[in-house]
Amino acid sequence: MFDLETYVKAGSLAEALELLQDNPSSIPIAGGTDVLVRLREGSRDHRHLVDIHELAELNFIEKESDGTILIGAGIPFSRLIEHSVIAQNLPILAMAGGWVGGPQVRNSATIGGNICNAAPCADSASPLLVLGATAHLDGPQGKRSLPLKEFFAGPYQVNKGRAEILTHFSIASENYTGWSGVYIKYTTRGAMDIATIGCGVNLKLAENRVEKMRLAYTVAAPKPIRCYQTEAAVQGMPADASLMEAVAANVLDDLSPRDSWRASKDFREHIIRELARRTLRQALSGAGGTIQ
Ligand SMILES: Cc1cc2nc3c(=O)[nH]c(=O)nc-3n(C[C@H](O)[C@H](O)[C@H](O)COP(=O)(O)OP(=O)(O)OC[C@H]3O[C@@H](n4cnc5c(N)ncnc54)[C@H](O)[C@@H]3O)c2cc1C
Repeated sequence: MFDLETYVKAGSLAEALELLQDNPSSIPIAGGTDVLVRLREGSRDHRHLVDIHELAELNFIEKESDGTILIGAGIPFSRLIEHSVIAQNLPILAMAGGWVGGPQVRNSATIGGNICNAAPCADSASPLLVLGATAHLDGPQGKRSLPLKEFFAGPYQVNKGRAEILTHFSIASENYTGWSGVYIKYTTRGAMDIATIGCGVNLKLAENRVEKMRLAYTVAAPKPIRCYQTEAAVQGMPADASLMEAVAANVLDDLSPRDSWRASKDFREHIIRELARRTLRQALSGAGGTIQ
């Protein structure tokens, strides 16, 4: 049994916001795949729940006329993976969604919950970071938007008030049109495991050189993180195998992996460099680069 004190299912986003304001101990629950684990562990912070699962205002994927893609925070990974807008425009997100848990978890777990839970290993984090996603919130002070990189505040911490709800993400056309994106997750088991290291890359070429490259990792720092120094160092480089080696040589300057029971710092550093090569190899191939 769960030590639940109050549970209210909201009928609309407006009602959910009101309920969260009325009870200063309450938090939102979406798919519950993180919240219920915490509750089971005896957390006192997860005993008053406002259920936002399946609210229509959070359950949509749309492509606007200017190409901007909107993804509702309440979209479960199983729906994200199968949606034609995602498959056709943001395959890196479908790749990441396919790595989350098993089918039962993906049916409940939402992309918004994955980001708001802010685990350093969240699988949707590095793809959304390299896609330059913006997070949109609603709350007691009204609506606000911020780049996802500013939303992550630390391990299991986001820049979000308790009574705020993440409503959706937006990804502008200029962040995916003509880009080639790849996400690879390294796990010690073949399935149903959290990342030892996760790596997302998004690459745009011009005349077989790097016009822009974005690289982000999970479990390589206290929070999901973009590798800005490495990105700047390889701008203009030829799109060939030398690029993969340059990224592998530079990337640790951006990161601070640590020892844990799951993997040593040395092993993580090795995987970080290797995932840089592998994600780039695939991204180069997708972008039409030359690989020896
Ligand atoms: C067996 C198992 C395997 C898993 N495997 C993986 C894995 O491989 N990769 C991975 O990344 N994760 C994994 N997870 C973790 C979890 O499934 C994901 O983090 C999931 O996406 C969380 O989404 P949720 O909707 O279930 O969130 P919930 O548990 O409902 O909520 C999580 C947190 O986010 C907040 N929240 C949720 N939605 C919103 C919103 N719209 N606005 C504001 N706050 C919100 C809640 O208040 C809570 O603090 C696994 C979990 C389990 C139980």
